[in-house]
Amino acid sequence: MRRNKRVMSQKESKKLLKKASVGRLGVSWKNQPYVVPLNFVYSKGRIFFHCAEEGKKLDFARRNPNVCFEVDRFLGVKKSVKPCSYSVYYQSVIICGKANVVRSLARKTQILREIFEIYARKTAGKFDRGQVAKVKVVEIRVREISGKQNLPTRMQE
Ligand SMILES: Cc1cc2nc3c(=O)[nH]c(=O)nc-3n(C[C@H](O)[C@H](O)[C@H](O)COP(=O)(O)OP(=O)(O)OC[C@H]3O[C@@H](n4cnc5c(N)ncnc54)[C@H](O)[C@@H]3O)c2cc1C
Repeated sequence: MRRNKRVMSQKESKKLLKKASVGRLGVSWKNQPYVVPLNFVYSKGRIFFHCAEEGKKLDFARRNPNVCFEVDRFLGVKKSVKPCSYSVYYQSVIICGKANVVRSLARKTQILREIFEIYARKTAGKFDRGQVAKVKVVEIRVREISGKQNLPTRMQE
């Protein structure tokens, strides 16, 4: 990273991944990048999201499982006298890793339960096996995590 003082520790980066509710999946195939926003969970060091059985992101990720995943938090504008001296406060994390579709029904149910409970903020009941079978759950095994931040004074330790 060009500016060392902006580096987020691995611990802080993982905290943001736990807190964020939207991430952006970056995939590419035959010189064509594609970025798509998704809800997700960061669980046991991996990213998981669920989606329909078919679609462009899944097509791309199947053809080229090397993907990126990004999350961020916009923390406001740093004002200044001159417009060119304005800057922004933020935290962001970029992951590079390998995507694969989770096959095990038990594992899929467990991940869907985690997703449900985080986003619905309530305990999930019983999952219908037929519905679980239809949904795709994708796992991203993390190869590399980097975090960068520019924090306002009030948030600096
Ligand atoms: C906050 C948020 C959370 C979301 N969470 C999930 C989730 O958890 N799971 C999930 O499957 N989807 C989620 N979506 C929808 C997701 O962004 C995609 O629209 C969806 O997954 C279909 O993607 P696809 O590649 O299969 O698109 P396809 O249905 O194959 O369509 C491909 C074409 O549609 C266009 N397109 C697709 N998605 C978008 C988009 N979001 N905005 C603009 N153009 C688009 C692309 O340019 C592309 O050419 C979420 C969207 C938002 C904004």
